[in-house]
Amino acid sequence: MRSPVRTLATLPAVALVLAATFPTISGAGIQPSQSQYEGADARAAAEPTRHTFPLLKWLRDTAVEVVFGTPSAGTKGGSRPDPALESRYRNDVVVRFNVTNSEEEAALASAAGQMFLDVWAFTPQYVDVRLGKDDVSALLTLLPKALQPSVLIPDVAAAVWATYPSTTATGKSRFESTVVDAAKLKTSLDGVGNIFFEDYQTLTVITSWMRLLEAMFPSIVNMTTIGKSYEGRDVYALRVGGRKSEGEASGPRKTILITGGLHGREWISTSTANYLLWSVITSYDKEPMITKLLDHFDMVFIPVLNPDGYEYTWQSDRLWRKSRQQTKMRFCRGLDLDHAFSYGWDARKLQTDPCSESYGGDEPFQAVEASNLAKWAKNETDHGARFVAFLDLHSYAQEVLYPYSYTCSVDPPNRENLEELAVGLAKAIRISSGELYTVMSACEGAVARTYSASESFPRIEAGGGSAIDWFYHELHARYSYQIKLRDTGSYGFLLPSDHIVPTGEEMLNALKYLGDFLLGNNGIERGVFHKDLKRRRR
Ligand SMILES: [Zn+2]
Repeated sequence: MRSPVRTLATLPAVALVLAATFPTISGAGIQPSQSQYEGADARAAAEPTRHTFPLLKWLRDTAVEVVFGTPSAGTKGGSRPDPALESRYRNDVVVRFNVTNSEEEAALASAAGQMFLDVWAFTPQYVDVRLGKDDVSALLTLLPKALQPSVLIPDVAAAVWATYPSTTATGKSRFESTVVDAAKLKTSLDGVGNIFFEDYQTLTVITSWMRLLEAMFPSIVNMTTIGKSYEGRDVYALRVGGRKSEGEASGPRKTILITGGLHGREWISTSTANYLLWSVITSYDKEPMITKLLDHFDMVFIPVLNPDGYEYTWQSDRLWRKSRQQTKMRFCRGLDLDHAFSYGWDARKLQTDPCSESYGGDEPFQAVEASNLAKWAKNETDHGARFVAFLDLHSYAQEVLYPYSYTCSVDPPNRENLEELAVGLAKAIRISSGELYTVMSACEGAVARTYSASESFPRIEAGGGSAIDWFYHELHARYSYQIKLRDTGSYGFLLPSDHIVPTGEEMLNALKYLGDFLLGNNGIERGVFHKDLKRRRR
Protein backbone atom coordinates (compact mmCIF):
# COMPACT_ATOMS: atom_id res chain seq x y z
CA MET A 1 0.00 0.00 0.00
CA ARG A 2 1.01 3.53 -0.67
CA SER A 3 3.70 2.11 -2.87
CA PRO A 4 4.36 3.88 -6.15
CA VAL A 5 2.36 2.81 -9.16
CA ARG A 6 2.95 -0.86 -9.66
CA THR A 7 4.46 -2.27 -12.76
CA LEU A 8 2.89 -5.32 -14.26
CA ALA A 9 5.73 -7.42 -12.95
CA THR A 10 4.65 -6.74 -9.38
CA LEU A 11 0.93 -7.17 -9.91
CA PRO A 12 -0.75 -10.24 -8.55
CA ALA A 13 -1.63 -13.06 -10.87
CA VAL A 14 -5.18 -11.88 -11.28
CA ALA A 15 -4.08 -8.61 -12.81
CA LEU A 16 -1.79 -10.44 -15.15
CA VAL A 17 -4.74 -12.42 -16.35
CA LEU A 18 -6.51 -9.13 -16.91
CA ALA A 19 -3.54 -7.91 -18.88
CA ALA A 20 -3.57 -10.99 -21.04
CA THR A 21 -7.26 -10.62 -21.68
CA PHE A 22 -6.94 -6.98 -22.63
CA PRO A 23 -3.67 -6.41 -24.42
CA THR A 24 -3.99 -2.62 -24.49
CA ILE A 25 -3.31 -2.44 -20.76
CA SER A 26 -0.29 -0.21 -20.46
CA GLY A 27 2.85 -1.47 -18.87
CA ALA A 28 2.74 1.20 -16.19
CA GLY A 29 -0.41 -0.11 -14.56
CA ILE A 30 -3.87 -1.15 -15.54
CA GLN A 31 -4.95 1.53 -17.96
CA PRO A 32 -7.54 0.58 -20.53
CA SER A 33 -7.66 2.77 -23.61
CA GLN A 34 -10.43 5.32 -23.80
CA SER A 35 -12.16 3.58 -26.69
CA GLN A 36 -12.14 0.31 -24.85
CA TYR A 37 -14.42 1.28 -22.07
CA GLU A 38 -16.44 3.59 -24.23
CA GLY A 39 -17.19 0.75 -26.58
CA ALA A 40 -17.62 -1.76 -23.81
CA ASP A 41 -20.58 -0.06 -22.28
CA ALA A 42 -22.79 2.35 -24.12
CA ARG A 43 -25.10 2.49 -21.15
CA ALA A 44 -22.52 4.31 -19.12
CA ALA A 45 -23.38 7.49 -20.99
CA ALA A 46 -27.01 7.13 -19.98
CA GLU A 47 -26.12 7.13 -16.28
CA PRO A 48 -23.12 9.41 -16.08
CA THR A 49 -23.43 10.29 -12.41
CA ARG A 50 -23.16 6.68 -11.32
CA HIS A 51 -20.02 5.96 -13.25
CA THR A 52 -17.54 8.44 -11.95
CA PHE A 53 -14.76 5.89 -12.27
CA PRO A 54 -14.72 4.45 -15.78
CA LEU A 55 -11.55 2.49 -15.06
CA LEU A 56 -13.18 0.90 -12.10
CA LYS A 57 -16.26 0.04 -14.08
CA TRP A 58 -14.22 -1.46 -16.85
CA LEU A 59 -12.24 -3.51 -14.40
CA ARG A 60 -15.40 -4.63 -12.71
CA ASP A 61 -17.04 -5.91 -15.85
CA THR A 62 -14.03 -7.85 -16.97
CA ALA A 63 -12.68 -8.88 -13.61
CA VAL A 64 -15.76 -10.73 -12.47
CA GLU A 65 -15.07 -13.20 -15.19
CA VAL A 66 -11.42 -13.44 -14.30
CA VAL A 67 -12.05 -14.13 -10.66
CA PHE A 68 -15.02 -16.36 -10.95
CA GLY A 69 -14.22 -18.10 -14.20
CA THR A 70 -15.75 -17.83 -17.61
CA PRO A 71 -19.13 -19.48 -17.83
CA SER A 72 -17.72 -22.38 -19.84
CA ALA A 73 -14.76 -22.92 -17.53
CA GLY A 74 -16.84 -23.05 -14.38
CA THR A 75 -15.32 -22.91 -10.91
CA LYS A 76 -15.45 -24.86 -7.73
CA GLY A 77 -16.86 -21.85 -5.96
CA GLY A 78 -20.52 -21.88 -5.20
CA SER A 79 -21.14 -25.57 -5.74
CA ARG A 80 -23.00 -27.44 -3.08
CA PRO A 81 -21.38 -30.26 -1.17
CA ASP A 82 -22.18 -33.88 -1.84
CA PRO A 83 -25.97 -34.38 -1.56
CA ALA A 84 -25.29 -37.31 0.78
CA LEU A 85 -24.36 -34.72 3.39
CA GLU A 86 -27.89 -33.43 3.36
CA SER A 87 -28.88 -36.37 5.49
CA ARG A 88 -26.32 -35.59 8.19
CA TYR A 89 -28.70 -33.57 10.34
CA ARG A 90 -31.90 -35.33 9.33
CA ASN A 91 -32.94 -36.08 12.90
CA ASP A 92 -31.74 -32.87 14.50
CA VAL A 93 -33.69 -29.98 15.96
CA VAL A 94 -32.70 -26.73 17.65
CA VAL A 95 -34.59 -26.04 20.86
CA ARG A 96 -34.75 -22.99 23.10
CA PHE A 97 -34.87 -22.91 26.88
CA ASN A 98 -35.98 -19.75 28.61
CA VAL A 99 -33.82 -19.96 31.69
CA THR A 100 -35.08 -17.97 34.63
CA ASN A 101 -32.98 -18.99 37.63
CA SER A 102 -29.58 -20.31 38.65
CA GLU A 103 -30.78 -23.81 39.40
CA GLU A 104 -32.09 -24.16 35.87
CA GLU A 105 -28.94 -22.79 34.33
CA ALA A 106 -26.68 -25.00 36.42
CA ALA A 107 -28.70 -28.06 35.42
CA LEU A 108 -28.59 -27.10 31.76
CA ALA A 109 -24.85 -26.37 31.88
CA SER A 110 -24.15 -29.74 33.46
CA ALA A 111 -26.42 -31.62 31.05
CA ALA A 112 -24.81 -29.86 28.08
CA GLY A 113 -21.38 -30.96 29.28
CA GLN A 114 -22.49 -34.50 30.00
CA MET A 115 -24.22 -35.03 26.67
CA PHE A 116 -21.72 -32.99 24.58
CA LEU A 117 -24.57 -30.86 23.36
CA ASP A 118 -24.01 -28.24 20.71
CA VAL A 119 -24.98 -25.01 22.50
CA TRP A 120 -25.82 -22.49 19.78
CA ALA A 121 -26.40 -19.45 21.95
CA PHE A 122 -26.70 -18.40 25.56
CA THR A 123 -27.98 -14.99 26.50
CA PRO A 124 -29.68 -13.54 29.57
CA GLN A 125 -32.98 -14.49 27.94
CA TYR A 126 -32.44 -17.87 26.34
CA VAL A 127 -30.22 -20.87 25.74
CA ASP A 128 -30.42 -22.57 22.33
CA VAL A 129 -29.26 -26.15 21.87
CA ARG A 130 -29.00 -28.43 18.84
CA LEU A 131 -29.57 -32.12 19.43
CA GLY A 132 -31.13 -35.23 17.95
CA LYS A 133 -34.90 -35.50 18.32
CA ASP A 134 -34.35 -38.81 20.07
CA ASP A 135 -32.13 -37.19 22.70
CA VAL A 136 -34.66 -34.58 23.82
CA SER A 137 -36.33 -36.82 26.37
CA ALA A 138 -32.97 -37.93 27.80
CA LEU A 139 -32.01 -34.27 28.21
CA LEU A 140 -35.28 -33.44 29.93
CA THR A 141 -34.68 -36.10 32.58
CA LEU A 142 -31.57 -34.13 33.62
CA LEU A 143 -33.41 -30.81 33.94
CA PRO A 144 -35.86 -29.31 36.42
CA LYS A 145 -39.46 -30.02 35.42
CA ALA A 146 -40.27 -26.34 34.89
CA LEU A 147 -37.60 -26.02 32.22
CA GLN A 148 -39.43 -26.94 29.04
CA PRO A 149 -37.99 -26.29 25.59
CA SER A 150 -39.67 -24.77 22.60
CA VAL A 151 -38.67 -25.87 19.11
CA LEU A 152 -36.75 -23.20 17.22
CA ILE A 153 -35.64 -25.05 14.10
CA PRO A 154 -37.67 -28.22 13.53
CA ASP A 155 -35.72 -29.41 10.48
CA VAL A 156 -32.01 -28.66 10.78
CA ALA A 157 -31.11 -30.65 7.65
CA ALA A 158 -33.36 -28.52 5.45
CA ALA A 159 -32.09 -25.30 7.02
CA VAL A 160 -28.48 -26.40 6.46
CA TRP A 161 -29.14 -27.17 2.81
CA ALA A 162 -30.83 -23.82 2.27
CA THR A 163 -27.71 -21.81 3.18
CA TYR A 164 -25.55 -23.16 0.34
CA PRO A 165 -25.84 -21.13 -2.86
CA SER A 166 -28.71 -22.42 -4.95
CA THR A 167 -27.73 -24.04 -8.21
CA THR A 168 -29.37 -23.69 -11.59
CA ALA A 169 -30.29 -26.41 -14.05
CA THR A 170 -26.76 -26.25 -15.44
CA GLY A 171 -25.33 -27.03 -12.03
CA LYS A 172 -23.90 -23.55 -11.61
CA SER A 173 -24.55 -21.34 -8.64
CA ARG A 174 -26.75 -18.29 -8.97
CA PHE A 175 -23.58 -16.29 -8.73
CA GLU A 176 -21.74 -18.14 -11.49
CA SER A 177 -24.75 -17.86 -13.75
CA THR A 178 -24.98 -14.13 -13.16
CA VAL A 179 -21.54 -13.73 -14.66
CA VAL A 180 -23.09 -14.56 -18.04
CA ASP A 181 -25.75 -11.90 -17.56
CA ALA A 182 -23.73 -8.90 -18.61
CA ALA A 183 -26.71 -6.56 -18.41
CA LYS A 184 -27.05 -7.28 -14.71
CA LEU A 185 -23.40 -6.49 -14.14
CA LYS A 186 -23.80 -3.01 -15.55
CA THR A 187 -26.61 -1.75 -13.40
CA SER A 188 -24.49 0.06 -10.85
CA LEU A 189 -21.00 1.01 -9.88
CA ASP A 190 -20.81 -1.75 -7.32
CA GLY A 191 -21.93 -4.53 -9.62
CA VAL A 192 -19.23 -6.88 -8.42
CA GLY A 193 -20.21 -6.19 -4.87
CA ASN A 194 -23.85 -6.84 -5.49
CA ILE A 195 -23.27 -10.20 -7.12
CA PHE A 196 -20.62 -11.23 -4.65
CA PHE A 197 -22.96 -10.53 -1.75
CA GLU A 198 -25.95 -12.37 -3.16
CA ASP A 199 -24.64 -15.63 -1.76
CA TYR A 200 -22.17 -16.84 0.81
CA GLN A 201 -18.85 -17.54 -0.92
CA THR A 202 -16.28 -20.28 -0.67
CA LEU A 203 -12.76 -19.70 0.60
CA THR A 204 -11.35 -19.98 -2.93
CA VAL A 205 -13.68 -17.31 -4.26
CA ILE A 206 -13.06 -15.00 -1.30
CA THR A 207 -9.29 -15.28 -1.74
CA SER A 208 -9.49 -14.47 -5.48
CA TRP A 209 -11.82 -11.59 -4.73
CA MET A 210 -9.36 -10.15 -2.19
CA ARG A 211 -6.56 -10.40 -4.77
CA LEU A 212 -8.76 -8.59 -7.24
CA LEU A 213 -9.41 -5.76 -4.78
CA GLU A 214 -5.69 -5.38 -4.22
CA ALA A 215 -5.12 -5.24 -7.99
CA MET A 216 -7.94 -2.74 -8.50
CA PHE A 217 -6.96 -0.39 -5.68
CA PRO A 218 -3.20 -0.73 -5.30
CA SER A 219 -2.76 2.70 -3.76
CA ILE A 220 -4.92 1.97 -0.71
CA VAL A 221 -5.06 -1.84 -0.44
CA ASN A 222 -2.40 -4.32 0.49
CA MET A 223 -3.00 -8.05 0.82
CA THR A 224 -0.86 -10.02 3.17
CA THR A 225 -0.90 -13.27 5.09
CA ILE A 226 -0.70 -13.46 8.87
CA GLY A 227 0.48 -17.07 8.79
CA LYS A 228 -0.80 -20.51 7.92
CA SER A 229 -3.61 -22.55 9.39
CA TYR A 230 -3.10 -25.98 10.91
CA GLU A 231 -3.84 -27.59 7.53
CA GLY A 232 -1.52 -25.18 5.74
CA ARG A 233 -3.95 -22.64 4.32
CA ASP A 234 -2.93 -18.99 4.27
CA VAL A 235 -4.83 -16.72 6.63
CA TYR A 236 -5.17 -13.58 4.52
CA ALA A 237 -5.50 -10.01 5.68
CA LEU A 238 -6.29 -6.90 3.67
CA ARG A 239 -4.81 -3.69 4.95
CA VAL A 240 -6.62 -0.58 3.78
CA GLY A 241 -5.32 2.92 4.36
CA GLY A 242 -5.40 6.33 2.73
CA ARG A 243 -3.16 9.37 2.70
CA LYS A 244 -1.74 10.15 6.12
CA SER A 245 -0.83 13.66 7.12
CA GLU A 246 2.85 14.29 7.71
CA GLY A 247 2.51 14.22 11.46
CA GLU A 248 0.53 11.03 11.42
CA ALA A 249 2.83 9.30 8.98
CA SER A 250 5.69 9.62 11.45
CA GLY A 251 3.65 8.62 14.52
CA PRO A 252 2.21 5.21 15.37
CA ARG A 253 0.04 3.61 12.68
CA LYS A 254 -3.32 3.70 14.38
CA THR A 255 -5.00 0.49 13.32
CA ILE A 256 -8.55 -0.82 13.43
CA LEU A 257 -8.67 -4.62 13.18
CA ILE A 258 -11.80 -6.39 11.97
CA THR A 259 -11.97 -10.19 11.97
CA GLY A 260 -14.58 -12.68 10.85
CA GLY A 261 -14.87 -16.43 10.57
CA LEU A 262 -13.14 -17.29 13.86
CA HIS A 263 -15.84 -19.92 14.16
CA GLY A 264 -16.28 -21.79 10.88
CA ARG A 265 -20.06 -22.01 10.75
CA GLU A 266 -20.68 -18.31 11.42
CA TRP A 267 -20.75 -17.47 7.72
CA ILE A 268 -22.45 -14.11 8.23
CA SER A 269 -19.37 -12.90 10.12
CA THR A 270 -17.17 -13.60 7.09
CA SER A 271 -19.60 -12.05 4.60
CA THR A 272 -19.96 -8.98 6.83
CA ALA A 273 -16.19 -8.49 7.12
CA ASN A 274 -16.08 -8.71 3.32
CA TYR A 275 -18.96 -6.27 2.99
CA LEU A 276 -17.21 -3.76 5.25
CA LEU A 277 -13.91 -4.00 3.44
CA TRP A 278 -15.60 -3.68 0.04
CA SER A 279 -17.57 -0.67 1.24
CA VAL A 280 -14.66 1.26 2.71
CA ILE A 281 -12.43 0.59 -0.29
CA THR A 282 -15.02 1.68 -2.85
CA SER A 283 -16.15 4.68 -0.76
CA TYR A 284 -12.67 6.14 -0.39
CA ASP A 285 -12.46 9.59 -1.93
CA LYS A 286 -16.25 9.54 -2.39
CA GLU A 287 -17.80 9.47 1.07
CA PRO A 288 -16.27 12.10 3.37
CA MET A 289 -16.63 10.01 6.54
CA ILE A 290 -14.90 6.93 5.08
CA THR A 291 -12.21 9.03 3.41
CA LYS A 292 -11.48 10.74 6.69
CA LEU A 293 -11.44 7.40 8.48
CA LEU A 294 -8.92 5.86 6.08
CA ASP A 295 -6.79 9.00 6.07
CA HIS A 296 -6.45 8.72 9.84
CA PHE A 297 -6.45 4.98 10.43
CA ASP A 298 -5.25 1.82 8.81
CA MET A 299 -7.95 -0.81 8.72
CA VAL A 300 -6.98 -4.47 8.63
CA PHE A 301 -9.61 -7.02 7.64
CA ILE A 302 -9.22 -10.74 8.22
CA PRO A 303 -12.48 -12.20 6.89
CA VAL A 304 -11.61 -15.87 7.44
CA LEU A 305 -9.56 -16.30 10.59
CA ASN A 306 -10.22 -20.05 10.67
CA PRO A 307 -9.90 -21.14 7.03
CA ASP A 308 -9.73 -24.87 7.82
CA GLY A 309 -12.97 -24.71 9.77
CA TYR A 310 -14.61 -22.51 7.12
CA GLU A 311 -13.58 -24.82 4.29
CA TYR A 312 -14.84 -27.80 6.30
CA THR A 313 -18.27 -26.16 6.63
CA TRP A 314 -18.43 -26.01 2.81
CA GLN A 315 -17.12 -29.48 2.09
CA SER A 316 -18.28 -31.69 4.93
CA ASP A 317 -20.14 -30.25 7.88
CA ARG A 318 -22.04 -26.95 7.68
CA LEU A 319 -22.20 -26.69 11.47
CA TRP A 320 -18.48 -27.09 12.23
CA ARG A 321 -17.32 -24.44 14.72
CA LYS A 322 -13.74 -25.14 15.76
CA SER A 323 -10.46 -25.29 13.86
CA ARG A 324 -9.42 -28.64 12.35
CA GLN A 325 -6.30 -29.15 14.44
CA GLN A 326 -5.55 -32.65 15.69
CA THR A 327 -6.09 -33.06 19.44
CA LYS A 328 -4.95 -35.74 21.85
CA MET A 329 -8.22 -37.54 21.13
CA ARG A 330 -7.98 -39.09 17.70
CA PHE A 331 -11.66 -38.80 16.84
CA CYS A 332 -12.26 -35.33 18.25
CA ARG A 333 -10.55 -32.72 16.12
CA GLY A 334 -10.53 -28.99 16.43
CA LEU A 335 -9.84 -26.24 18.95
CA ASP A 336 -12.23 -23.43 19.80
CA LEU A 337 -10.18 -20.40 18.81
CA ASP A 338 -12.13 -18.15 21.14
CA HIS A 339 -10.71 -20.02 24.13
CA ALA A 340 -7.20 -20.30 22.75
CA PHE A 341 -5.62 -16.95 23.70
CA SER A 342 -3.53 -16.54 26.82
CA TYR A 343 -5.34 -13.82 28.73
CA GLY A 344 -7.69 -15.11 31.41
CA TRP A 345 -6.92 -18.66 30.37
CA ASP A 346 -7.72 -20.89 33.31
CA ALA A 347 -7.41 -24.65 33.06
CA ARG A 348 -9.71 -25.18 36.04
CA LYS A 349 -12.63 -23.51 34.34
CA LEU A 350 -12.19 -24.18 30.66
CA GLN A 351 -13.32 -27.29 28.84
CA THR A 352 -10.58 -29.91 28.94
CA ASP A 353 -12.35 -32.49 26.81
CA PRO A 354 -11.27 -32.26 23.16
CA CYS A 355 -14.70 -33.52 22.13
CA SER A 356 -16.36 -30.43 23.55
CA GLU A 357 -17.38 -27.64 21.16
CA SER A 358 -15.66 -25.10 23.42
CA TYR A 359 -12.36 -26.94 23.93
CA GLY A 360 -9.62 -24.38 23.37
CA GLY A 361 -6.60 -26.63 23.93
CA ASP A 362 -4.61 -27.89 26.89
CA GLU A 363 -2.61 -24.69 27.08
CA PRO A 364 -2.86 -21.14 25.69
CA PHE A 365 -1.94 -20.69 22.04
CA GLN A 366 -1.92 -24.38 21.30
CA ALA A 367 -4.26 -23.44 18.45
CA VAL A 368 -2.10 -22.52 15.47
CA GLU A 369 -4.44 -19.85 14.11
CA ALA A 370 -4.78 -18.02 17.45
CA SER A 371 -1.04 -18.19 17.99
CA ASN A 372 -0.34 -16.78 14.51
CA LEU A 373 -2.79 -13.94 14.94
CA ALA A 374 -1.17 -12.98 18.24
CA LYS A 375 2.34 -13.20 16.80
CA TRP A 376 1.36 -11.13 13.79
CA ALA A 377 -0.35 -8.50 15.95
CA LYS A 378 2.60 -8.29 18.33
CA ASN A 379 4.97 -7.94 15.42
CA GLU A 380 2.78 -5.15 14.04
CA THR A 381 2.95 -3.25 17.31
CA ASP A 382 6.72 -3.80 17.45
CA HIS A 383 6.89 -2.12 14.05
CA GLY A 384 4.92 1.01 14.73
CA ALA A 385 1.29 -0.09 14.69
CA ARG A 386 -1.09 0.70 17.51
CA PHE A 387 -4.36 -1.20 17.65
CA VAL A 388 -6.99 1.32 18.67
CA ALA A 389 -10.04 -0.82 18.01
CA PHE A 390 -10.81 -4.46 17.42
CA LEU A 391 -14.10 -5.80 16.14
CA ASP A 392 -14.33 -9.58 16.28
CA LEU A 393 -17.42 -10.51 14.29
CA HIS A 394 -19.42 -13.60 15.24
CA SER A 395 -22.99 -14.82 15.18
CA TYR A 396 -25.66 -15.08 16.40
CA ALA A 397 -27.76 -13.28 19.06
CA GLN A 398 -27.37 -9.60 18.05
CA GLU A 399 -25.09 -8.48 20.83
CA VAL A 400 -22.26 -5.99 21.27
CA LEU A 401 -19.98 -7.49 23.92
CA TYR A 402 -17.10 -5.73 25.62
CA PRO A 403 -14.28 -7.08 27.86
CA TYR A 404 -13.72 -8.91 29.98
CA SER A 405 -15.14 -12.20 28.90
CA TYR A 406 -13.06 -14.28 31.32
CA THR A 407 -14.62 -12.84 34.47
CA CYS A 408 -17.33 -10.48 35.67
CA SER A 409 -15.48 -9.71 38.87
CA VAL A 410 -12.87 -7.44 37.31
CA ASP A 411 -13.98 -4.32 35.50
CA PRO A 412 -11.94 -3.14 32.51
CA PRO A 413 -10.25 0.19 33.35
CA ASN A 414 -12.18 2.17 30.71
CA ARG A 415 -15.45 0.33 31.16
CA GLU A 416 -17.51 3.49 30.88
CA ASN A 417 -15.98 4.39 27.52
CA LEU A 418 -16.32 0.84 26.31
CA GLU A 419 -19.96 0.80 27.26
CA GLU A 420 -20.64 4.24 25.85
CA LEU A 421 -19.21 3.36 22.45
CA ALA A 422 -20.96 -0.03 22.47
CA VAL A 423 -24.28 1.71 23.07
CA GLY A 424 -23.45 4.07 20.20
CA LEU A 425 -22.70 1.15 17.87
CA ALA A 426 -25.99 -0.51 18.78
CA LYS A 427 -27.81 2.76 18.22
CA ALA A 428 -26.18 3.23 14.80
CA ILE A 429 -27.42 -0.23 13.88
CA ARG A 430 -30.92 0.52 15.12
CA ILE A 431 -31.09 3.77 13.17
CA SER A 432 -29.84 1.98 10.07
CA SER A 433 -32.12 -1.07 10.03
CA GLY A 434 -34.31 -1.12 13.11
CA GLU A 435 -32.52 -4.23 14.41
CA LEU A 436 -31.94 -4.35 18.15
CA TYR A 437 -28.49 -5.33 19.41
CA THR A 438 -28.01 -5.85 23.15
CA VAL A 439 -25.00 -4.27 24.84
CA MET A 440 -23.36 -6.07 27.75
CA SER A 441 -20.13 -7.36 29.16
CA ALA A 442 -18.89 -10.49 27.42
CA CYS A 443 -18.69 -12.21 30.80
CA GLU A 444 -22.42 -12.36 31.14
CA GLY A 445 -24.00 -15.66 30.30
CA ALA A 446 -27.58 -16.67 30.78
CA VAL A 447 -29.25 -15.12 33.84
CA ALA A 448 -25.94 -13.66 34.98
CA ARG A 449 -27.65 -10.34 35.48
CA THR A 450 -29.54 -11.61 38.47
CA TYR A 451 -26.25 -12.19 40.28
CA SER A 452 -23.91 -9.87 42.02
CA ALA A 453 -20.46 -9.71 40.53
CA SER A 454 -19.03 -13.03 41.49
CA GLU A 455 -17.13 -15.76 39.76
CA SER A 456 -19.20 -18.48 41.30
CA PHE A 457 -22.37 -18.25 39.29
CA PRO A 458 -22.90 -21.09 36.86
CA ARG A 459 -22.02 -20.54 33.27
CA ILE A 460 -23.09 -22.44 30.21
CA GLU A 461 -19.60 -21.85 28.91
CA ALA A 462 -16.53 -20.34 30.56
CA GLY A 463 -15.28 -17.21 28.78
CA GLY A 464 -11.51 -17.32 29.34
CA GLY A 465 -8.89 -17.11 26.59
CA SER A 466 -10.95 -14.95 24.24
CA ALA A 467 -9.55 -12.87 21.41
CA ILE A 468 -11.16 -9.62 22.63
CA ASP A 469 -9.68 -9.97 26.13
CA TRP A 470 -6.22 -10.62 24.69
CA PHE A 471 -6.27 -7.64 22.34
CA TYR A 472 -7.72 -5.45 25.04
CA HIS A 473 -5.28 -6.40 27.75
CA GLU A 474 -2.10 -7.43 25.96
CA LEU A 475 -2.13 -5.00 23.04
CA HIS A 476 -4.09 -2.22 24.73
CA ALA A 477 -6.74 -2.13 22.01
CA ARG A 478 -8.86 0.31 23.96
CA TYR A 479 -12.06 -0.45 22.10
CA SER A 480 -12.30 -4.18 21.80
CA TYR A 481 -15.63 -5.83 20.98
CA GLN A 482 -17.07 -9.14 20.07
CA ILE A 483 -20.16 -8.46 17.96
CA LYS A 484 -22.65 -11.25 17.50
CA LEU A 485 -24.51 -10.48 14.29
CA ARG A 486 -27.98 -11.55 13.10
CA ASP A 487 -30.27 -13.12 13.94
CA THR A 488 -31.94 -13.84 17.29
CA GLY A 489 -32.67 -17.49 16.61
CA SER A 490 -35.12 -17.87 13.73
CA TYR A 491 -32.27 -19.29 11.66
CA GLY A 492 -29.32 -19.01 14.03
CA PHE A 493 -26.09 -19.97 12.23
CA LEU A 494 -28.13 -20.93 9.18
CA LEU A 495 -29.03 -17.37 8.28
CA PRO A 496 -30.34 -17.15 4.68
CA SER A 497 -28.17 -15.28 2.20
CA ASP A 498 -30.67 -12.46 1.74
CA HIS A 499 -29.47 -11.20 5.13
CA ILE A 500 -25.91 -10.66 3.87
CA VAL A 501 -26.42 -7.13 2.53
CA PRO A 502 -28.75 -5.83 5.30
CA THR A 503 -26.38 -7.17 7.97
CA GLY A 504 -23.43 -5.63 6.14
CA GLU A 505 -25.22 -2.30 5.86
CA GLU A 506 -26.13 -2.07 9.53
CA MET A 507 -22.54 -2.93 10.50
CA LEU A 508 -21.22 -0.36 8.04
CA ASN A 509 -23.20 2.28 9.89
CA ALA A 510 -21.81 1.00 13.16
CA LEU A 511 -18.33 1.20 11.67
CA LYS A 512 -18.90 4.80 10.62
CA TYR A 513 -20.04 5.58 14.14
CA LEU A 514 -16.88 3.95 15.47
CA GLY A 515 -14.76 6.06 13.13
CA ASP A 516 -16.55 9.21 14.13
CA PHE A 517 -16.11 8.36 17.80
CA LEU A 518 -12.39 7.61 17.40
CA LEU A 519 -11.89 10.86 15.51
CA GLY A 520 -13.04 12.60 18.63
CA ASN A 521 -16.52 13.60 17.56
CA ASN A 522 -18.23 11.14 19.87
CA GLY A 523 -20.82 10.49 17.23
CA ILE A 524 -21.54 14.18 16.83
CA GLU A 525 -20.55 14.53 13.17
CA ARG A 526 -24.18 14.13 12.40
CA GLY A 527 -24.31 15.82 9.03
CA VAL A 528 -22.42 13.06 7.31
CA PHE A 529 -23.97 10.29 9.30
CA HIS A 530 -27.58 11.20 8.67
CA LYS A 531 -27.12 12.16 5.06
CA ASP A 532 -25.64 8.73 4.41
CA LEU A 533 -28.54 7.02 6.08
CA LYS A 534 -31.06 8.93 4.03
CA ARG A 535 -29.26 8.08 0.83
CA ARG A 536 -29.32 4.38 1.74
CA ARG A 537 -33.00 4.30 2.41
CA ARG A 538 -33.94 5.61 -0.98
ZN1 LIG B 1 -18.46 -17.31 17.31
